[in-house]
Amino acid sequence: MNRSYTRHLVPAHAPQSAPCRDDQVQNGTGGYVFALDAWARLDRFLVLGCEGGTYYASERTLTEDNARGVLECLALDGRRTIERIAEISASGRAPKNDPAIFALALAASLSDAPLKAAAFEAMPRVCRTATHLFQFVRDVRAFRSWGRGLRRAIGRWYTAMSSERLALQVAKYGQRVGYAHRDLLRLAHPKAPSPAHDAIFRWATGGGSSALDRPSKHGAAIERSALPSLLDAFEAVRAAKTSSEVVSLVRRHRLTHEMVPSEWKDDVRVWAALVEEMPLTALIRNLGKMTAVGLLRPLAESTRKVATRLRSKPLLRSARVHPLSVLAALKVYAQGHGERGKLRWEPVREIYDALEDAFYAAFALVKPTNVRHLLALDVSGSMTCGEIAGMPGMNPRVASAAMAMATARTEPHHHFVGFSHEIVSLDISPRSTLEATIHAIERVPMGATDCALPMLYAKANKLPVDVFIVYTDNETWFGAVHPFQALRDYRDATGIPAKLVVVGLTATEFSIADPNDAGMLDVVGFDAAAPALIADLAAA
Ligand code: CA
Repeated sequence: MNRSYTRHLVPAHAPQSAPCRDDQVQNGTGGYVFALDAWARLDRFLVLGCEGGTYYASERTLTEDNARGVLECLALDGRRTIERIAEISASGRAPKNDPAIFALALAASLSDAPLKAAAFEAMPRVCRTATHLFQFVRDVRAFRSWGRGLRRAIGRWYTAMSSERLALQVAKYGQRVGYAHRDLLRLAHPKAPSPAHDAIFRWATGGGSSALDRPSKHGAAIERSALPSLLDAFEAVRAAKTSSEVVSLVRRHRLTHEMVPSEWKDDVRVWAALVEEMPLTALIRNLGKMTAVGLLRPLAESTRKVATRLRSKPLLRSARVHPLSVLAALKVYAQGHGERGKLRWEPVREIYDALEDAFYAAFALVKPTNVRHLLALDVSGSMTCGEIAGMPGMNPRVASAAMAMATARTEPHHHFVGFSHEIVSLDISPRSTLEATIHAIERVPMGATDCALPMLYAKANKLPVDVFIVYTDNETWFGAVHPFQALRDYRDATGIPAKLVVVGLTATEFSIADPNDAGMLDVVGFDAAAPALIADLAAA
């Protein structure tokens, strides 16, 4: 059917429960919205994942939909797809690496040999730690059997790395998701590029340094001195009898907390040694524990040092710390107990404040555009379902409020509203703490969804708005007019060429943004680059 004819057949102001244009599709609620193209959908999946599903789709359905979406991109342009997967993963724009690993595993399972090879070639960029490698192998094995290409790719992962880095990976992540280095090394059988690699391979497959003294199928016995000292220290800390021994090994060999047996994990002196060189991601994850054991106390020197590191932009950047990981850590730290287990602590204000600063600092740098922003948060019931990137407590409603705060702290001219079937007031401001913001948003009563309300509200109240930012799952159905039409009406009524940014918070294909309108943009919620992308459109 010719589109220009059908356009005349449907009323311009159809309700959301009816199509307004023939390029619209039905969302999970039966309302009509636009569909993202395959590439935009890929980005949403890579950043948001689909843990917990949505209010309308189970995790399984959503995963199947997204797997189909990845395959569609691979069929359209395989190299571009693989490059995008690697780029989103390596840039740290996504809170978790799992969707990228899953998508790359799909690419590695295709029958197209050159594409499969390209996927294996990109694998080290996506699988930067041994945990990522184990996850990749698990995902690939779900789709295909072992084969020469896969074995070689695994082998290359072990041989391309320096022996120091490999020793760290082997000591830090011995086994995960049902795989151990022993399994992979036996399967892949890589040829060691150096005596140190040879020693590490034998250590990991044969169970320790004693394996080096005997000849094996890898060859004759080799000198123990070839083994990186980290692995000797790893064995020594397992045999340690006193905490002073543990402390001295940790200090001398920069052992990480993963390498220290749990029997020493309640000792404040051990943590004091661990914290000195602790990578930032581990630091953020262990703040509760270090507070519980008494290392982090008000006014303590260690507290001051940790707070300084948490606020360091270069450290946040080089460790690829994602704002959502900081937000999840902040929520857990503030509540004074873990999501699982019995660990409890009294939160230290200085640490909490540093985490707040880290959250804002973890976003890509944004310059204020100084245009007028209406920050409109969907607070309807469906927004409380699912977990962004599988993070406990991080439902779309909570996450979007924090996300909007990042823009509000940069842009001086802004106004917050919440909407479901009506506009509701939100008790948040850039001066609020994130904790207070989360509480405020959790208290808002929920209702049906009408994503046109922010534009209708601005028109009715004659608010001058340059950019509407709508944070939503795009499951709109309740309103009498489609959101894109409401924006056009607003432009006509005010003469302001207002733009609309839709911050999508679930990995569905739905959007309220008109793909044919250059003044409307879809960004992926909790893309660390989202505030920068929003600012680009606002300034255009
Ligand atoms: Ca809803």
